[in-house]
Amino acid sequence: MSNRDLGMHRPIARRDFLNGVGVSVTGSLLSSPWLEAFGTPHPQFAPEKEPGYYPPARTGFRGSHNGSWEVAHELVSGKTWDDMSPQADTDEVYDLIVVGGGISGLAAAYFYRQTAGPRARILVLENHDDFGGHARRNELSYKERSLISAGGTVGVSTPSPYSSVARNLIRDIGIQVERETEFQNPELYPSLNLGSGVFFDKETFGVDRLVARGERSWKEFAALTPLSEVAQKDLVRLYEEKKDYLPGLSSDEKKALLSKTSYRDFLKDLVKVDPQIITYHQKSTHPLFALGIDGVPALDCWGLGYPGFQGMGLDNSGYPGMSLTAKPYENAEQYDYHPPDGGGSVARLLVRALIPAVAPGTTMEDIVSARLDYGRLDEQNSPVRIRLNSTVVRARHNGDPKRAKEVEVTYVRGGKVHRARGRSSVLACWNGVIPHLCPEMPAKQKQALAYGVKVPLVATKVLVRDWKSFYKLGVSGVSCPGSYHTNINLAAPYDIGDYRSPRKPEEPMILSMWRTPCSPGLSSREQHRAGRHDLFSTTFETFEREIRDQLGRVLSDGGFDPARDIEAITVNRWPHGYAYEYNSLWDPVLPEEEQPCVIGRQPFGRFSIANSDAGAYAYIDSAIDMAHRAVSEVLGKP
Ligand SMILES: Cc1cc2nc3c(=O)[nH]c(=O)nc-3n(C[C@H](O)[C@H](O)[C@H](O)COP(=O)(O)OP(=O)(O)OC[C@H]3O[C@@H](n4cnc5c(N)ncnc54)[C@H](O)[C@@H]3O)c2cc1C
Repeated sequence: MSNRDLGMHRPIARRDFLNGVGVSVTGSLLSSPWLEAFGTPHPQFAPEKEPGYYPPARTGFRGSHNGSWEVAHELVSGKTWDDMSPQADTDEVYDLIVVGGGISGLAAAYFYRQTAGPRARILVLENHDDFGGHARRNELSYKERSLISAGGTVGVSTPSPYSSVARNLIRDIGIQVERETEFQNPELYPSLNLGSGVFFDKETFGVDRLVARGERSWKEFAALTPLSEVAQKDLVRLYEEKKDYLPGLSSDEKKALLSKTSYRDFLKDLVKVDPQIITYHQKSTHPLFALGIDGVPALDCWGLGYPGFQGMGLDNSGYPGMSLTAKPYENAEQYDYHPPDGGGSVARLLVRALIPAVAPGTTMEDIVSARLDYGRLDEQNSPVRIRLNSTVVRARHNGDPKRAKEVEVTYVRGGKVHRARGRSSVLACWNGVIPHLCPEMPAKQKQALAYGVKVPLVATKVLVRDWKSFYKLGVSGVSCPGSYHTNINLAAPYDIGDYRSPRKPEEPMILSMWRTPCSPGLSSREQHRAGRHDLFSTTFETFEREIRDQLGRVLSDGGFDPARDIEAITVNRWPHGYAYEYNSLWDPVLPEEEQPCVIGRQPFGRFSIANSDAGAYAYIDSAIDMAHRAVSEVLGKP
């Protein structure tokens, strides 16, 4: 399709102020895209105080948006700010300075205040224009209707049970997880005869074809696909055959072997399926692991219920090195909360608990529709201050780390260098950044912090003026094994407080699409590094064209016209996404005290380390647990 047919010329809400800036880690601040965005820094730089400052409503590139990462990249490529005297000396002194305003940083502020009391002075520094880290909110509007979606974290949910610390925090900020079903409407799509579907693209499978799965048996479904006859038979065999592919081995021996075998090799060498079936499954693990099946242990796929293991006789217990995401947990109760803005609600509730003036209301319901006043986040008379658009470039003790009574944190905001002092500090930013902030840390600790590579992925949101095409095609979610984005989903029907999610196909809708840039053949950490580069160097136009092309092709038989029906696009780009979780294909299985995340998270003088990387576990509860530990350390209360 031509650019015109796809609607690339349409003036929709789709591009942020800095469109398509590639990776630039050199160059001075004065030439940085950041300054191009905001112009010459104002002496009283405070965009958050401008009327209308409301980042959730911004579209285009979000997540690691342009303007948020450039200073940090300069830091990582060797620039130092040590010899620069503060250009805008705030002369501020705090009890606690938190680096990073994600769930972990906000939780650290919350826990500190809980113990130290409401008069404790806390500063949270965050490099993005919004708080929440990955737990971010998107708002997209069409005519009078504003729809909400999660820009990253989908919600409170974890395969492993929440600790009592994390549960208490979730409850204390007002979330009653047990009420989740009050707000959901799981019957809506089935009542409209909508279910899952698979889109086979012509580049991968020879022809463009959408096949609704519906209530069909695997045999009926396979017959409708463009897969070869052999591949169709193998698809049915994979799902239905009960065969032990490792006869003669005990359950534990099988698990040991499967923990060192990728699911791809399991399918290829043990189940011996046709190569088309491997292609069909290759990206099925992308959303959860941000790796294809070449990078995910077969044992983890067994734990998650992937096909092929039904006759293997594996007992229902975990195994050393198994991903916590896939491990079976005995008596694990349902502990889920997925409001329309996902983890965004958790971040907002934390912020309201810390700075009540930011948002009206008191409940988990009213926070969903609340319009937050970002101008109140950083007020002089407030004991807790959250300072956005501020990248920390140095964190050090004033004196010998063993004896120092104070820390000094340097950050860049509005193109200027600022310093603040604190009694102690929690580094709730990413592990990979910390060695650059604190170069005097012990070498072993820095090496351990640098071990995990954050996982890149993209959560794209597309506002369409209606979803009649989905209705006509009988699908509410489509997996696209060969396409740019691997999944397309309608928003889950969820009504909470004043918020009403779309009910009728004629209403506007936010579609969620997931993409992970992977490089099969490399190790998991190498794939993540390559993927990060890919995300930073892909322009918004490329994303937009791919989105339009994919939606046009998947939905065309339902009457979808990408040039007409797309109203806004937000690409939540997360080059530093999920925390790195150890992978039994490449990482050694180590006792806890030898794991890089444990060595890396040791306190360093008056600095303690929070964030989900410190738990090597990419879930909200890890971010909370790590914050709790870090705060206990700085307060000397283990
Ligand atoms: C797309 C996506 C979907 C997810 N879905 C779920 C889910 O459904 N359920 C779930 O439980 N978990 C989910 N997760 C994981 C979960 O979001 C994270 O584990 C958790 O939010 C991490 O919180 P954090 O505070 O440790 O890190 P972050 O959210 O990354 O916050 C750290 C913050 O520190 C900032 N920072 C870094 N360096 C500096 C610096 N030098 N100066 C200032 N600030 C800095 C970063 O920009 C960031 O904002 C998801 C993650 C992603 C990316």
